Amino acid sequence: MSPSEKMQFQLTLRRRGISDRSVLKAMDDVPRELFVTPPDREHAYRDIALGIACGQTISQPFVVGYMTEQLQVKPDHRVLEIGTGSGYQAAILSRLCRDVVSIERYRTLADRARIVLADLGYGNVEVIAGDGFDIPANLGTFDRIIVTAAMEEVPQALLSRLDPDGILIAPVGPHTGSQMLMRFKRSGDAFQPQELLGVRFVPALKGVAREL
Ligand code: SAH
Repeated sequence: MSPSEKMQFQLTLRRRGISDRSVLKAMDDVPRELFVTPPDREHAYRDIALGIACGQTISQPFVVGYMTEQLQVKPDHRVLEIGTGSGYQAAILSRLCRDVVSIERYRTLADRARIVLADLGYGNVEVIAGDGFDIPANLGTFDRIIVTAAMEEVPQALLSRLDPDGILIAPVGPHTGSQMLMRFKRSGDAFQPQELLGVRFVPALKGVAREL
């Protein structure tokens, strides 16, 4: 990316309200062009969602920045992402916390993301091909959970994977049209919901994808 593109990218994020310095730095550091398909590389630093393999999308940079900021990730945190897609959101998180576990139902996407993340030397991300609605028990619980696909509702089983004082962010609503980005904060056994922003995500579907 050229220095002027880089400056423009940061300016756009700031203008849209992203102010957390560590989030802005992570977005400055991670080369988004490596996560989009080659024909889209020239558009990698525009504030738009782009298509990736398997009919999925890499979110608009503002939404990535916003969700990351709202997640309030700390350096000692272990974070779960559901919906690896390109691996870009996982890459951003990996710059801000101790460990990221990211689950993707398309094996093709999981395999690709794993390679891009490894090539960049982001060794604290584990990409798992699997179903975010059926998370292996041995993965334990997390300080933060981010869902990057639309859920009609957030299953209690997923909320229960939050540590005490944990935060989960997910787009909640119908699979077609728009959803509400929701934030759930755990205190004891209660989960305090908060509406954040209207968004549009591809659907979270149950089960591992049958096609590659
Ligand atoms: N965070 C991604 C973009 C996510 S697009 C990025 O930064 O590029 C949403 C992704 O969620 C898609 O790749 C889709 O296949 C995946 N997905 C949908 N339902 C899922 C499920 N039940 N478990 C895991 N991944 C799922």
